[in-house]
Amino acid sequence: MMHNNKTCTIFDIKRYAIHDGPGIRTTIFFKGCPLSCLWCHNPEGIEPKPKTIYDPKKCIGCFACVDSCPDKALKVQQNGIYPSDEDILALCNSCNSLICADVCPTKSRERVGKICSVDDILKEVQKDIAFYEESDGGVTFSGGEPLMQWEALIELLKGCKSVDIHTAVDTTGFSSWSILKKVAQFTDLFLFDLKMLDDKKHKIYTGVSNKSILENLKQLAILIKSQNSSVKQRIIIRMPLIPTINDDEANIEATGKFIADLEDLEDNRCNSRVKEVNLLPYHDFQRSKYLKFGIDYKPQNILAPTQEQIKTVQERLEAFDLTVSVG
Ligand code: SF4
Ligand code: SF4
Repeated sequence: MMHNNKTCTIFDIKRYAIHDGPGIRTTIFFKGCPLSCLWCHNPEGIEPKPKTIYDPKKCIGCFACVDSCPDKALKVQQNGIYPSDEDILALCNSCNSLICADVCPTKSRERVGKICSVDDILKEVQKDIAFYEESDGGVTFSGGEPLMQWEALIELLKGCKSVDIHTAVDTTGFSSWSILKKVAQFTDLFLFDLKMLDDKKHKIYTGVSNKSILENLKQLAILIKSQNSSVKQRIIIRMPLIPTINDDEANIEATGKFIADLEDLEDNRCNSRVKEVNLLPYHDFQRSKYLKFGIDYKPQNILAPTQEQIKTVQERLEAFDLTVSVG
Protein backbone atom coordinates (compact mmCIF):
# COMPACT_ATOMS: atom_id res chain seq x y z
CA MET A 1 0.00 0.00 0.00
CA MET A 2 1.32 3.50 -0.93
CA HIS A 3 2.28 5.89 1.87
CA ASN A 4 -0.31 8.64 2.28
CA ASN A 5 -0.16 11.55 4.70
CA LYS A 6 -3.56 13.14 3.94
CA THR A 7 -5.74 13.59 7.00
CA CYS A 8 -9.45 13.60 7.79
CA THR A 9 -11.62 14.23 10.83
CA ILE A 10 -13.55 11.26 12.12
CA PHE A 11 -15.57 10.61 15.28
CA ASP A 12 -15.52 6.83 15.49
CA ILE A 13 -14.20 3.60 14.02
CA LYS A 14 -16.50 0.64 14.59
CA ARG A 15 -15.04 -2.83 14.05
CA TYR A 16 -17.20 -5.94 13.47
CA ALA A 17 -20.13 -3.85 12.19
CA ILE A 18 -22.94 -5.95 10.70
CA HIS A 19 -25.52 -3.32 9.74
CA ASP A 20 -23.48 -1.11 7.40
CA GLY A 21 -23.41 -3.27 4.28
CA PRO A 22 -22.81 -6.98 3.60
CA GLY A 23 -20.77 -9.24 5.88
CA ILE A 24 -18.55 -8.16 8.73
CA ARG A 25 -17.26 -4.64 8.22
CA THR A 26 -15.26 -1.84 9.75
CA THR A 27 -17.17 1.43 9.65
CA ILE A 28 -15.36 4.75 9.64
CA PHE A 29 -17.52 7.68 10.77
CA PHE A 30 -16.51 11.00 9.19
CA LYS A 31 -17.21 14.17 11.15
CA GLY A 32 -19.24 16.95 9.53
CA CYS A 33 -22.61 16.84 7.78
CA PRO A 34 -24.40 19.49 5.66
CA LEU A 35 -27.80 18.16 6.79
CA SER A 36 -29.39 18.49 10.21
CA CYS A 37 -32.09 15.81 10.17
CA LEU A 38 -34.56 16.09 13.00
CA TRP A 39 -34.09 12.41 13.94
CA CYS A 40 -30.28 12.24 13.41
CA HIS A 41 -28.80 9.12 15.02
CA ASN A 42 -25.28 10.50 15.11
CA PRO A 43 -25.60 14.09 16.32
CA GLU A 44 -21.91 14.07 17.27
CA GLY A 45 -21.18 13.77 13.54
CA ILE A 46 -22.86 17.01 12.46
CA GLU A 47 -20.21 19.58 13.43
CA PRO A 48 -17.07 19.27 11.31
CA LYS A 49 -14.53 20.12 14.02
CA PRO A 50 -13.47 17.97 16.97
CA LYS A 51 -14.62 19.39 20.33
CA THR A 52 -14.86 18.42 23.98
CA ILE A 53 -17.86 17.43 26.06
CA TYR A 54 -18.04 17.50 29.84
CA ASP A 55 -20.02 15.42 32.33
CA PRO A 56 -19.76 17.01 35.80
CA LYS A 57 -21.13 13.82 37.44
CA LYS A 58 -17.92 11.95 36.57
CA CYS A 59 -15.60 14.83 37.56
CA ILE A 60 -13.38 14.18 40.62
CA GLY A 61 -12.06 17.76 40.74
CA CYS A 62 -8.42 16.83 40.10
CA PHE A 63 -7.82 20.04 38.04
CA ALA A 64 -5.68 18.21 35.49
CA CYS A 65 -7.77 19.85 32.74
CA VAL A 66 -7.47 23.32 34.28
CA ASP A 67 -3.69 23.01 34.60
CA SER A 68 -3.18 21.54 31.14
CA CYS A 69 -4.93 24.26 29.14
CA PRO A 70 -2.37 26.62 27.59
CA ASP A 71 -5.00 29.39 27.52
CA LYS A 72 -6.17 28.91 31.11
CA ALA A 73 -9.70 28.74 29.73
CA LEU A 74 -11.31 26.61 32.43
CA LYS A 75 -12.58 27.92 35.76
CA VAL A 76 -14.24 26.24 38.70
CA GLN A 77 -17.91 27.21 38.75
CA GLN A 78 -20.80 26.31 41.00
CA ASN A 79 -21.80 23.18 39.06
CA GLY A 80 -18.46 22.03 37.65
CA ILE A 81 -15.46 23.16 35.62
CA TYR A 82 -16.34 25.17 32.52
CA PRO A 83 -14.95 27.84 30.17
CA SER A 84 -15.18 31.07 32.16
CA ASP A 85 -17.35 33.13 29.76
CA GLU A 86 -18.81 33.27 26.24
CA ASP A 87 -15.56 34.55 24.68
CA ILE A 88 -13.58 31.73 26.25
CA LEU A 89 -16.22 29.24 25.12
CA ALA A 90 -15.67 30.50 21.55
CA LEU A 91 -11.93 29.96 22.08
CA CYS A 92 -12.58 26.37 23.19
CA ASN A 93 -14.86 25.79 20.21
CA SER A 94 -12.03 26.70 17.85
CA CYS A 95 -9.31 24.94 19.85
CA ASN A 96 -7.14 22.49 17.95
CA SER A 97 -5.34 20.93 20.88
CA LEU A 98 -8.19 19.74 23.18
CA ILE A 99 -5.48 18.65 25.61
CA CYS A 100 -7.87 19.23 28.53
CA ALA A 101 -9.80 16.12 27.43
CA ASP A 102 -6.69 14.03 26.83
CA VAL A 103 -5.46 14.49 30.42
CA CYS A 104 -8.79 13.77 32.16
CA PRO A 105 -8.43 10.52 34.15
CA THR A 106 -12.18 9.82 34.43
CA LYS A 107 -13.37 10.73 30.92
CA SER A 108 -15.51 13.37 32.53
CA ARG A 109 -14.08 15.63 29.86
CA GLU A 110 -14.00 13.80 26.53
CA ARG A 111 -12.84 14.54 23.04
CA VAL A 112 -15.46 14.09 20.29
CA GLY A 113 -13.71 13.62 16.97
CA LYS A 114 -10.08 13.44 16.02
CA ILE A 115 -7.89 14.19 13.06
CA CYS A 116 -6.39 10.98 11.65
CA SER A 117 -4.06 10.27 8.80
CA VAL A 118 -5.25 8.14 5.89
CA ASP A 119 -2.37 5.77 6.64
CA ASP A 120 -3.44 5.23 10.24
CA ILE A 121 -7.03 4.49 9.23
CA LEU A 122 -5.88 2.07 6.54
CA LYS A 123 -3.68 0.28 9.09
CA GLU A 124 -6.68 -0.04 11.39
CA VAL A 125 -9.04 -1.41 8.74
CA GLN A 126 -6.51 -3.97 7.57
CA LYS A 127 -6.49 -5.65 10.98
CA ASP A 128 -9.75 -7.39 10.06
CA ILE A 129 -9.07 -8.45 6.50
CA ALA A 130 -9.53 -12.12 7.49
CA PHE A 131 -13.05 -11.37 8.76
CA TYR A 132 -13.95 -9.47 5.58
CA GLU A 133 -12.78 -12.38 3.46
CA GLU A 134 -14.66 -14.95 5.53
CA SER A 135 -17.94 -13.02 5.49
CA ASP A 136 -17.85 -11.15 2.16
CA GLY A 137 -17.58 -7.98 4.23
CA GLY A 138 -15.34 -4.94 3.90
CA VAL A 139 -15.10 -1.30 4.93
CA THR A 140 -17.91 1.26 5.06
CA PHE A 141 -17.33 5.02 5.11
CA SER A 142 -20.18 6.72 6.94
CA GLY A 143 -20.73 9.79 9.06
CA GLY A 144 -21.64 12.56 9.20
CA GLU A 145 -21.25 12.89 5.46
CA PRO A 146 -18.09 11.27 4.05
CA LEU A 147 -18.37 13.22 0.77
CA MET A 148 -17.59 16.43 2.70
CA GLN A 149 -14.02 15.15 3.03
CA TRP A 150 -13.91 13.61 -0.40
CA GLU A 151 -10.19 13.98 -1.05
CA ALA A 152 -9.26 11.89 1.98
CA LEU A 153 -12.20 9.58 1.26
CA ILE A 154 -10.85 8.84 -2.22
CA GLU A 155 -7.41 8.04 -0.81
CA LEU A 156 -9.00 5.70 1.73
CA LEU A 157 -11.10 3.99 -0.93
CA LYS A 158 -8.05 3.61 -3.20
CA GLY A 159 -6.06 2.17 -0.27
CA CYS A 160 -8.78 -0.39 0.40
CA LYS A 161 -9.08 -1.36 -3.26
CA SER A 162 -5.29 -1.79 -3.53
CA VAL A 163 -5.57 -4.70 -1.07
CA ASP A 164 -8.88 -5.98 -2.45
CA ILE A 165 -11.15 -4.81 0.35
CA HIS A 166 -14.83 -4.32 -0.59
CA THR A 167 -15.81 -0.66 -0.15
CA ALA A 168 -19.13 0.95 0.75
CA VAL A 169 -20.00 4.64 1.08
CA ASP A 170 -22.99 5.55 3.23
CA THR A 171 -24.11 8.96 1.99
CA THR A 172 -26.86 11.57 2.15
CA GLY A 173 -26.07 12.21 -1.53
CA PHE A 174 -25.83 15.94 -0.82
CA SER A 175 -22.75 16.89 -2.80
CA SER A 176 -21.74 18.00 -6.26
CA TRP A 177 -22.06 15.38 -9.00
CA SER A 178 -18.40 15.84 -9.95
CA ILE A 179 -17.33 14.74 -6.45
CA LEU A 180 -19.74 11.82 -6.31
CA LYS A 181 -18.57 10.66 -9.72
CA LYS A 182 -14.93 10.67 -8.61
CA VAL A 183 -15.79 8.74 -5.44
CA ALA A 184 -17.83 6.22 -7.46
CA GLN A 185 -14.69 5.05 -9.27
CA PHE A 186 -13.50 3.29 -6.11
CA THR A 187 -16.81 2.38 -4.43
CA ASP A 188 -18.38 -1.08 -4.72
CA LEU A 189 -21.58 -0.22 -2.90
CA PHE A 190 -23.44 2.99 -2.18
CA LEU A 191 -25.79 3.07 0.79
CA PHE A 192 -27.74 6.06 -0.47
CA ASP A 193 -30.20 7.81 1.87
CA LEU A 194 -33.56 8.78 0.48
CA LYS A 195 -35.59 10.51 3.15
CA MET A 196 -38.59 12.07 1.41
CA LEU A 197 -39.56 13.22 -2.06
CA ASP A 198 -41.38 16.44 -1.17
CA ASP A 199 -38.76 19.20 -1.33
CA LYS A 200 -40.58 21.57 1.03
CA LYS A 201 -40.78 18.89 3.73
CA HIS A 202 -37.20 17.83 3.04
CA LYS A 203 -36.03 21.39 3.74
CA ILE A 204 -38.06 21.56 6.95
CA TYR A 205 -36.86 18.24 8.37
CA THR A 206 -33.27 18.05 7.09
CA GLY A 207 -32.34 21.71 6.54
CA VAL A 208 -31.56 21.30 2.82
CA SER A 209 -33.32 20.88 -0.53
CA ASN A 210 -33.46 17.35 -1.98
CA LYS A 211 -33.08 18.53 -5.60
CA SER A 212 -29.36 17.79 -5.94
CA ILE A 213 -29.75 14.56 -3.92
CA LEU A 214 -32.38 13.18 -6.32
CA GLU A 215 -30.40 14.31 -9.35
CA ASN A 216 -27.22 12.71 -7.97
CA LEU A 217 -29.04 9.46 -7.34
CA LYS A 218 -30.30 9.43 -10.94
CA GLN A 219 -26.83 10.16 -12.31
CA LEU A 220 -25.28 7.51 -10.08
CA ALA A 221 -27.83 4.93 -11.21
CA ILE A 222 -27.04 5.73 -14.85
CA LEU A 223 -23.31 5.50 -14.20
CA ILE A 224 -23.52 2.22 -12.33
CA LYS A 225 -25.90 0.62 -14.76
CA SER A 226 -23.62 1.51 -17.66
CA GLN A 227 -20.74 -0.56 -16.17
CA ASN A 228 -20.04 -3.82 -17.89
CA SER A 229 -21.51 -6.83 -16.16
CA SER A 230 -18.18 -7.98 -14.64
CA VAL A 231 -18.26 -4.88 -12.40
CA LYS A 232 -20.37 -5.59 -9.35
CA GLN A 233 -21.10 -2.02 -8.28
CA ARG A 234 -24.54 -1.38 -6.83
CA ILE A 235 -26.72 0.99 -4.82
CA ILE A 236 -28.88 0.15 -1.81
CA ILE A 237 -31.39 2.89 -1.05
CA ARG A 238 -31.70 3.52 2.68
CA MET A 239 -34.91 5.06 3.87
CA PRO A 240 -35.39 6.08 7.49
CA LEU A 241 -39.02 5.41 8.39
CA ILE A 242 -40.18 8.25 10.62
CA PRO A 243 -43.87 8.09 11.61
CA THR A 244 -45.82 11.29 10.87
CA ILE A 245 -42.87 12.68 8.86
CA ASN A 246 -42.26 10.41 5.87
CA ASP A 247 -44.48 7.34 6.29
CA ASP A 248 -47.55 8.83 4.57
CA GLU A 249 -48.95 7.04 1.55
CA ALA A 250 -48.09 9.90 -0.83
CA ASN A 251 -44.41 9.81 0.11
CA ILE A 252 -44.14 6.03 0.01
CA GLU A 253 -45.79 5.87 -3.41
CA ALA A 254 -43.58 8.69 -4.74
CA THR A 255 -40.48 7.01 -3.31
CA GLY A 256 -41.39 3.61 -4.77
CA LYS A 257 -42.01 5.16 -8.18
CA PHE A 258 -38.79 7.19 -8.09
CA ILE A 259 -36.66 4.12 -7.30
CA ALA A 260 -38.48 1.91 -9.80
CA ASP A 261 -37.91 4.58 -12.47
CA LEU A 262 -34.16 4.45 -11.78
CA GLU A 263 -34.30 0.96 -13.23
CA ASP A 264 -35.56 2.28 -16.53
CA LEU A 265 -32.85 4.87 -16.99
CA GLU A 266 -30.58 4.36 -19.93
CA ASP A 267 -28.75 1.08 -20.23
CA ASN A 268 -30.70 -1.78 -18.71
CA ARG A 269 -28.13 -4.57 -18.89
CA CYS A 270 -27.62 -4.97 -15.15
CA ASN A 271 -31.08 -4.31 -13.93
CA SER A 272 -30.79 -5.38 -10.32
CA ARG A 273 -28.25 -2.81 -9.25
CA VAL A 274 -30.67 -0.22 -7.88
CA LYS A 275 -33.65 -2.29 -6.76
CA GLU A 276 -32.83 -2.79 -3.11
CA VAL A 277 -34.36 -0.68 -0.39
CA ASN A 278 -33.39 -0.89 3.24
CA LEU A 279 -36.04 0.54 5.59
CA LEU A 280 -34.63 1.90 8.84
CA PRO A 281 -37.49 2.23 11.35
CA TYR A 282 -37.16 5.21 13.68
CA HIS A 283 -36.20 4.53 17.32
CA ASP A 284 -35.07 6.88 20.03
CA PHE A 285 -32.04 4.94 21.33
CA GLN A 286 -29.98 7.97 20.34
CA ARG A 287 -31.78 10.15 22.91
CA SER A 288 -29.06 9.53 25.53
CA LYS A 289 -26.42 10.69 23.04
CA TYR A 290 -28.17 14.05 22.72
CA LEU A 291 -28.09 14.42 26.50
CA LYS A 292 -24.40 13.48 26.58
CA PHE A 293 -23.50 15.97 23.85
CA GLY A 294 -25.69 18.75 25.29
CA ILE A 295 -27.91 18.96 22.17
CA ASP A 296 -31.71 19.40 22.32
CA TYR A 297 -33.56 16.24 21.32
CA LYS A 298 -36.26 17.61 19.04
CA PRO A 299 -38.43 14.66 17.91
CA GLN A 300 -40.12 14.53 21.33
CA ASN A 301 -43.53 13.28 20.18
CA ILE A 302 -42.49 10.78 17.53
CA LEU A 303 -43.03 7.12 18.34
CA ALA A 304 -41.25 4.16 16.78
CA PRO A 305 -43.38 2.59 14.01
CA THR A 306 -45.29 -0.57 14.92
CA GLN A 307 -44.60 -3.87 13.10
CA GLU A 308 -47.87 -3.33 11.25
CA GLN A 309 -46.86 0.15 10.07
CA ILE A 310 -43.49 -1.17 8.91
CA LYS A 311 -45.14 -4.05 7.05
CA THR A 312 -47.57 -1.70 5.29
CA VAL A 313 -44.72 0.47 4.01
CA GLN A 314 -42.67 -2.57 3.03
CA GLU A 315 -45.56 -4.00 1.01
CA ARG A 316 -46.26 -0.64 -0.68
CA LEU A 317 -42.64 -0.48 -1.83
CA GLU A 318 -42.55 -4.14 -2.85
CA ALA A 319 -45.50 -3.43 -5.13
CA PHE A 320 -43.00 -1.48 -7.27
CA ASP A 321 -41.01 -4.70 -7.74
CA LEU A 322 -38.35 -3.58 -5.27
CA THR A 323 -36.50 -5.84 -2.82
CA VAL A 324 -37.20 -4.35 0.59
CA SER A 325 -35.40 -5.30 3.81
CA VAL A 326 -36.02 -3.88 7.27
CA GLY A 327 -33.40 -2.78 9.81
S1 SF4 B 1 -10.72 23.08 24.59
FE1 SF4 B 1 -8.65 23.92 24.26
S2 SF4 B 1 -8.82 26.05 24.97
FE2 SF4 B 1 -10.58 24.96 25.82
S3 SF4 B 1 -9.92 24.22 27.83
FE3 SF4 B 1 -9.51 22.57 26.38
S4 SF4 B 1 -7.37 22.88 25.79
FE4 SF4 B 1 -8.08 24.82 26.70
S1 SF4 C 1 -9.40 16.45 34.47
FE1 SF4 C 1 -11.44 15.47 34.39
S2 SF4 C 1 -11.83 14.73 36.45
FE2 SF4 C 1 -10.12 16.22 36.58
S3 SF4 C 1 -11.12 18.17 37.03
FE3 SF4 C 1 -10.91 18.06 34.82
S4 SF4 C 1 -12.86 17.18 34.12
FE4 SF4 C 1 -12.71 16.78 36.31
